[in-house]
Amino acid sequence: MKQVESNNWAAAVLSKGGLPRAERGEGIYIYDSAGKRYIDASGGPAVYCLGHNHPEVNEAINRQLGKIAHAYRYSFTSDAQDELSALIEGFCGNGLSGIVYVSGGSEAVESALKIALQYHSARGEQTRRRFISRRRSWHGNTLGALSVSDFSSRRQPFEGALIDASFVSSANAYRPPAGIDSEDLADYLATELEEEILRRGANRIAGFIFEPIVGAAGGVVPAPAGYARKIRDVCTRHGVLMIADEVMCGSARCGTWRALEHDGVVPDIMAVAKGLGAGYVPLGAAIYHRSVLDVLVQVDGGPLTGHTFTAHTAACAAGAAVQTIVKRDGLVERVRTEGELFKGLLCDALGDLEAVGEIRGRGFFVGVEFVADRSSKVPFDHDVQLSARINNHALSRGLLCYSVSGNVDGTNGDAVILAPPYIATRAELTEIVRIFADCTIAALRDIGRA
Ligand code: PMP
Repeated sequence: MKQVESNNWAAAVLSKGGLPRAERGEGIYIYDSAGKRYIDASGGPAVYCLGHNHPEVNEAINRQLGKIAHAYRYSFTSDAQDELSALIEGFCGNGLSGIVYVSGGSEAVESALKIALQYHSARGEQTRRRFISRRRSWHGNTLGALSVSDFSSRRQPFEGALIDASFVSSANAYRPPAGIDSEDLADYLATELEEEILRRGANRIAGFIFEPIVGAAGGVVPAPAGYARKIRDVCTRHGVLMIADEVMCGSARCGTWRALEHDGVVPDIMAVAKGLGAGYVPLGAAIYHRSVLDVLVQVDGGPLTGHTFTAHTAACAAGAAVQTIVKRDGLVERVRTEGELFKGLLCDALGDLEAVGEIRGRGFFVGVEFVADRSSKVPFDHDVQLSARINNHALSRGLLCYSVSGNVDGTNGDAVILAPPYIATRAELTEIVRIFADCTIAALRDIGRA
């Protein structure tokens, strides 16, 4: 049977006799059925922002289940839904008041794309059907979300059936397009986007979708300063909707509730998921601006997208409990300030290693990119499997991190993402860095590079 190439870690573990069996979780720790303890240093794929087994979230879900698990959205609304919507609106502000609840990130992206299409149709511009995305991006596994993702190993089996989309350069200051200086990068990228819009005809473009900080496809890649503002202007100028995929980097992960808040930019539509329900329930949302909502309501009575479990009542109750805790405990600020410390610890521990190309990110979303040569930034050969090796060492030491491979060209490149729960203490962050550094050095030793 073909191994799952996109998840090196799982493939490597499977070849050693299967995944450990999760038994229970407590705070930042997971325990397997053999009693082994793991520090969840990546919160799974940047999901478990409150850690595991949070009593208040469990209690809120149980309380809701004790009343009703789910009341179908076409028949009822609920307190849980209203409570979560008020919290999201409070965090987002800036007219972001339309919300479609779904069950995960891919559905959130799918909904965002459909809201954009519906908006243009409602305004009599049904020619606007095409999306522009970026190279080295990941937006999800449903056909629409996959169509706007540039992740070759995940797309390959489905090529030929995907929706045609345009791809412009990734916004990566560490690896800018050839001949472009980092100071000129934001302008270059904005011009490139505008040229693609004009080349296709603005009246054919529905939206531009991007991750404000790239996660799985890049290994935590923040865009250069000024990029988001310039992109916003290009989109506005051409009536193209700006769609921010904040599934991984949003919901406070980067030290602001919306990742784009850092840039002072408001998208037309955004997708959130992972941290919204913190993994206690499957939950995501497409959030969109009042100006989009008004059009949908006037012409169609509302968004024409949604699913049976849209605004699932117990899921909304869980999300409301999670976001109440994030707000009450000042976790957005905590992530911002402790994140600086966390990145500083990583730089102290790893910064001098020749194989470490860059340590980057914001808040509790940090990536370490590895290179075979620091000055040329040439990656390690794919066959070396460096990030998978680091993950295997980490796993044996009871540390969970998220390995990325192919971040440079779809095949080559190694990075590891650390995305601890927002509740991780300084002592826990320090321990994560200490073990991660040990494992990195052990993996480099395996390949004769330390
Ligand atoms: N967008 C981004 C930026 C993601 O990181 C992911 C998941 N890794 C998705 C969308 C898809 O989310 P899900 O796996 O919940 O469908």
